[in-house]
Amino acid sequence: MRIDIITIFPQMLEGFFGLGVIGQARQDGIVQIFVHDLRAFTTDKHQQVDDRPYGGGPGMVLKPEPFFRAVRHIKSQLTVEPRVILLSAQGKLFTQKLARELAQAPALILLCGRYEGVDERVLHLCTDEISIGDYVLSGGEVAAAVVAEAVARLVPGVVGRQESLEQDSFYHEGLLGPPQYTRPPEFEGLKVPDVLLTGDHQRIEEFRRRAALEKTLKNRPDLLKR
Ligand code: SAM
Repeated sequence: MRIDIITIFPQMLEGFFGLGVIGQARQDGIVQIFVHDLRAFTTDKHQQVDDRPYGGGPGMVLKPEPFFRAVRHIKSQLTVEPRVILLSAQGKLFTQKLARELAQAPALILLCGRYEGVDERVLHLCTDEISIGDYVLSGGEVAAAVVAEAVARLVPGVVGRQESLEQDSFYHEGLLGPPQYTRPPEFEGLKVPDVLLTGDHQRIEEFRRRAALEKTLKNRPDLLKR
């Protein structure tokens, strides 16, 4: 899979994608991630990417032309049709289900807003407008990192063992993952549940299923209702 991200702050993302599971997947050539500076797609000498909002009001709005140039440039390098996604607090809510759907795409282009947002005409470039939650960030970079990471880890080969994904929250529709423990078996009087030390796989499975249900009921009863 190839993921291209367009931002006015490429430095914010370069370190992030160099490390961890995604960093390794890039090194292994399973996922390609390119971060583009929106300013590189301006044509004026001041590399202006923003302007005042029509109709008045505070702040600045990101101009459409650099986004159009950037997306066209990236598309010209692709032989496949990408999903083009504007990160936006006004978008459709990002979920594991949507991450799974996006992981089927051969390429993603993620557009990061800043300031008061992006000129609405940029949506003409996009197949999707996605929000990572009902709150407002100062920019789309963190949201792009969230989407790229959640999607990339579903690409076959990125996470070493498929069972890791199957134990994750939301893998089973409407259910959080089970609690995890590691050594030591007891720490400051806090004990690992005995069943996990038995080696009895069936009982361990039953324990995990029950614990996942209890946790979902406690923290996310809305998931169970759905
Ligand atoms: N005025 C905009 C509004 O009311 O929706 C908020 C603009 S916000 C300060 C600047 C940028 O941050 C947005 O253009 C978007 O790219 C990003 N952003 C903010 N909140 C987000 C969220 N919940 N999900 C995804 N992107 C978000």
